[in-house]
Amino acid sequence: MITRIAGGTLVTSKSMQVTDVWIKDDKVMHVGAGDFHAEETIDASGLYLLPGGVDPHVHMQLPTPAGPSSDTFYTGSVAALHGGTTTIIDFVTPQPGQSLVDALEARMQEAESSLIDYSFHISPIEWRDTTAEEIEACFKRGITSFKIYMAYKQAVGLEDNEVERVLQTVGRLGGMITVHAEMGDEIDALRDQSAAAGKLEPDAHRATRPNHTEADAVKKVIDMAADASCPLYVVHVSTHESMEHIRNAQAKGQQVIAETCPHYLLLDESKYAGTFEETVKYVLSPPLRTEADQKALWHALKDGDISTIGTDHCPFTLAQKSAGKDDFRKIPNGAGGVEHRIALLYTYGVLPEKISFQKMVDVASAQPAKIFGLYPKKGEIKAGSDADLLVWDPNTESVISSKNHHQNSDLNIYEKFTSVGNAKWVIRSGEVVIADGELIDSGVTGKFLKRKNILI
Ligand code: MN
Ligand code: MN
Repeated sequence: MITRIAGGTLVTSKSMQVTDVWIKDDKVMHVGAGDFHAEETIDASGLYLLPGGVDPHVHMQLPTPAGPSSDTFYTGSVAALHGGTTTIIDFVTPQPGQSLVDALEARMQEAESSLIDYSFHISPIEWRDTTAEEIEACFKRGITSFKIYMAYKQAVGLEDNEVERVLQTVGRLGGMITVHAEMGDEIDALRDQSAAAGKLEPDAHRATRPNHTEADAVKKVIDMAADASCPLYVVHVSTHESMEHIRNAQAKGQQVIAETCPHYLLLDESKYAGTFEETVKYVLSPPLRTEADQKALWHALKDGDISTIGTDHCPFTLAQKSAGKDDFRKIPNGAGGVEHRIALLYTYGVLPEKISFQKMVDVASAQPAKIFGLYPKKGEIKAGSDADLLVWDPNTESVISSKNHHQNSDLNIYEKFTSVGNAKWVIRSGEVVIADGELIDSGVTGKFLKRKNILI
């Protein structure tokens, strides 16, 4: 079956042009004029045509002591689709002692309800005799990126000698390490001091994770990755100091890639002033920073020093967050955002000309796909690519709220933010899944994407 999307302005990471896009079955067949017989035509005149979003950092139903993060793969993928995202990379977090392969298989079953395509970063949370073999076995199953945590030492964090071994193993296999870079031991000590001094409210979360606890970890892991000759992807960069370390390494030719999140671009530390109920939803790690950090991140994004925008989507309900009512150390860290990534970049990046429209496509689709071995199937609209795309209507305006979002939470960190434009039509694998802003759930689910080694 052939579908024609007629007369829209196609935005790629490099260009914008009014053109037709022809889809045959689940692939883009042709871009440009043509006289194929289309069974269906979508009129996109006056609208934009974008590649489906690729969100490289989400946590659906992540197990925590306060219960799983509140979006399942189903509800989270519905929210993603409403926001124009058609591919996600989530995480596999094994139990202590569990093989990475067994954990991957269990996670793949959980993800079967996803309406969009998915892959995973796998987190070794300890080093055992068989860990190197397990990493290699995961490569054979199409996983080429591995996530390490330098914080959360009691749960998933690694000691330095373990970090070194994972870097060496993944570097030798030609993969990528993604890293949560915060100085875990120092932060744990600051948290205990804060609690001992009776500072237990959500603002203590911010105060116990000062900028240098991120930047020092970034510097440290950059040096370790250089020693191991392993490409490094730093997730959720939030400070200007971290960006300086990353820029220096990049200038020396080291493969260091930076991701930031919409909340570090758009929200700042003033959100921690207020009651528990007002402030708890902003407890995420790293915490929100200063306006100066925001500014530095926008510049880094524009200049290409930051390559991708991930959401770190990890929503909880107010009831879950309330586990830390009397002690900020018990608040589950995280917030939802997978639904809003493209709209926020468009409204607060493209419209005020902080970044170009092409840059938005680059950081929201093309770069995540390239960096994580999904390109050219994902990331751009061109002949032969998967037919994952959206028709963006720039003529609408709405107000973000937990009352009307599709994320499964009664909290939204972008509450009251104006959002210009929306995903009017979303096509996934050649199938219309959002029509006029409404979900059409045909029961067809997304698929697990086997990835190639990195392409940078
Ligand atoms: Mn993290
Ligand atoms: Mn995360």
